[in-house]
Amino acid sequence: MAEQQEIQLWQTVSPVEFVPRIKEQSEAQSLLIQTRQAVGYSVAGGQLAHAIQSRATHMLLDYTKAACAIRYQVDGAWEQLPPMERELGDAMLIALKQLCLMNATDRRSTQSGKLGLKVAKEKFSLTLQSRGTPTGEQVMARIEPDKVPFHRLSDLGMRDKMYSQFKECLDAHGNTILITAPKAEGLTTTWNIALEAADKLVRDFQSFENQEQAEPEIININANYFGGDTGKQLQEVLKSSILKEPDVLIFPELPDPTSMGLAVEQIKKTEKQVYARMVAPTAMQALVSYLAKYKDSAAEITPNIGAVLGQRLVRRLCDNCKVGFEPTPQLLNQLGIPAGRVAMLYRPFVPPPIEQQVDENGRPAPIEPCGTCAGRGYFGRIAIFEMLVPGEKLRSALLKTQDLNQLNQIAKSEGHRGLQAESVLTVARGLTSLDELKRIFAKS
Ligand SMILES: [Zn+2]
Repeated sequence: MAEQQEIQLWQTVSPVEFVPRIKEQSEAQSLLIQTRQAVGYSVAGGQLAHAIQSRATHMLLDYTKAACAIRYQVDGAWEQLPPMERELGDAMLIALKQLCLMNATDRRSTQSGKLGLKVAKEKFSLTLQSRGTPTGEQVMARIEPDKVPFHRLSDLGMRDKMYSQFKECLDAHGNTILITAPKAEGLTTTWNIALEAADKLVRDFQSFENQEQAEPEIININANYFGGDTGKQLQEVLKSSILKEPDVLIFPELPDPTSMGLAVEQIKKTEKQVYARMVAPTAMQALVSYLAKYKDSAAEITPNIGAVLGQRLVRRLCDNCKVGFEPTPQLLNQLGIPAGRVAMLYRPFVPPPIEQQVDENGRPAPIEPCGTCAGRGYFGRIAIFEMLVPGEKLRSALLKTQDLNQLNQIAKSEGHRGLQAESVLTVARGLTSLDELKRIFAKS
């Protein structure tokens, strides 16, 4: 008698449709027909559908002698799934590599490839990277939706008051706006949304982009390309653009000091604006490195810094199952929240141990996981934003010192709330939990 097979996750959902990244339609078709013959095809389709249904942005496969361990990254946190039998895992990987136009028999070299996925009407892009390890092979699958849902800064967690201050800076004259975040902390998203938020109807926006790292198109922003096939240098592109007197000069990557010098001249002489994007752990660290990079222009830049936006991503508590609790006076004190200001804080719902999940008669009554977050307690991510608007004291200190402690203290005395203080506000607004803050700040 055949052994009762346990139902595996990839069998619980309808599989994704594969769209090979091949221009020639007939070639793509024959690749699909060919790979469909093997069992790995439906395993891969089901597993990826399950990952997408779980809102995973990454799937990590770790092949050892015995099994294929599977992990998902959901909202920036890794989750362990039940492992797959090695044989089945191998079959899945062969199919995926073939569909991604990679060498399926090579299990040692570092390789990567791409593949389109379709679930109902939604389209996704899969990037597969594999490399041999001492015990087998490790494979990272990154899953990105083709259409990024529209967001506003408030959807990302920015408080209303900060938003109106930031919007005012974006739409002002004669200033520099810096938008920053640590690496892999959602900088691109915030940057694009901030550009969307700026008032572009009557003003002329010019962006300066390396052709090889072109930015997504945004309505009413004109892209000027340099490098790549253009045969042009940034400086000449910038000079000819400045002749047309644009209102806002946009630098997705920090330019060389000479180019920045040209841009700063425009801020000073004709009240133009510069928006720049850079990777940095905090707003203050961004500002200090920015001024260090452009030290010859620092005296011109510093008086005109409009705002420096910094951020850190955290998981958002699930609104459907978060649990309110009354904070003790000690806890409020620890958090620096004045007594009486916040009546309720929230934490994720954690079910009691299974043996305590019983009905009034003591019979087992397992608690159904929350339908919104599937029992994770969190759903989606938001950013904790800090917005640094230097006052007079900080501006003059920035020209004299790079000492972060000293600069942060001055900023605080001028009313700046750093990431830690903004985090407490985010907890007080019921958007995230103290445990999540601990997890995030332990990383840095
Ligand atoms: Zn929930």
